[in-house]
Amino acid sequence: MGTSWSVIAHSPREIVDPKAVSESIAGLLATLDGRLSNWIDDSEVSRFNRATPSTWVPVSADTVAVVQAAMDVSARSGGAFDVTLGPLVDTWGFGPGGARAAPPPDREISGAGSLAGMTRLQVRDNPPALMKSIRGLGLDLGGIAKGYAVDQVAELLQGWGFTGYLVEIGGEVRARGERPGGGPWRVALETPPGTAAGTGPVIPLQGLAVATSGTYRNFFEADGRRYSHIIDPWHKFPVTHTLSAASVIADTAMLADAWATTMMVRGPEHARDLAIEQGLAVLLQYQDASGTRWETWSSPAWNALLPEQAPTPGSG
Ligand code: AMP
Ligand code: MG
Repeated sequence: MGTSWSVIAHSPREIVDPKAVSESIAGLLATLDGRLSNWIDDSEVSRFNRATPSTWVPVSADTVAVVQAAMDVSARSGGAFDVTLGPLVDTWGFGPGGARAAPPPDREISGAGSLAGMTRLQVRDNPPALMKSIRGLGLDLGGIAKGYAVDQVAELLQGWGFTGYLVEIGGEVRARGERPGGGPWRVALETPPGTAAGTGPVIPLQGLAVATSGTYRNFFEADGRRYSHIIDPWHKFPVTHTLSAASVIADTAMLADAWATTMMVRGPEHARDLAIEQGLAVLLQYQDASGTRWETWSSPAWNALLPEQAPTPGSG
């Protein structure tokens, strides 16, 4: 997944072999990478991306679960979240094909863009398999797989008997139980560069997950413009709005991850509407019109979860 992970966990009983625990986590993550990553040549996703259309390609239940969740978020977001953008993400230099120093030529954008489409993707539970209706359709689960992996690590820790843990992969976090010493875990949210260090909200987290997505995380600059890794599926272009970061709290890290990316696809105004319409707990960080000040907006569901941090009524 091209990122780091960390786990803090505790248990009332003595855990026999902490090293075995961390090895089991590393093993699980390697397995998931080998299923979900399009950066690994012989992963399930990479094999599916090369497969011929109109035949079922057997995959693991993990891959099916992630694709099904991606389809659900896609439908609920009006197509903003789209895991069939693989070839386009790659064309823009954010895939395994390698980075770019300048935007690709128009014909490459329209070529890769024409291969996308969630309706061209079919998923089956039993036996688990994927099918595409056109040659060249390619999955990129980069906006959701980290969250799924966090959830799976959480399950694993549960199995080891841990009663409190904080699991983090590349900024997507899930917490259960209490932190060592008591009380909910405290997670400091990432803030976009340019904000003073330590100014992000610190949120208490217990039994929930939080994910943050941001245009500042991965981008290139050319001719004074910034091109981010979040791709607008309608314009086939990196997003151009002023929203810098979106955080989402959800029951699972997978959903938090997918929705955080979706918010970044939509931009500040549409993301607000979507968060309210879908009842999602969302915090948006964006620049004001003059581009000099950072502003935040939190959804009603976010404010309900974190009443002590909600803006006071009337303050806007
Ligand atoms: P995240 O870091 O979770 O926000 O995910 C960002 C990654 O999601 C990008 O690097 C792409 O691999 C992928 N991505 C980009 N645009 C979209 C989109 N519109 N829908 C789903 N995934 C996307
Ligand atoms: Mg995401």
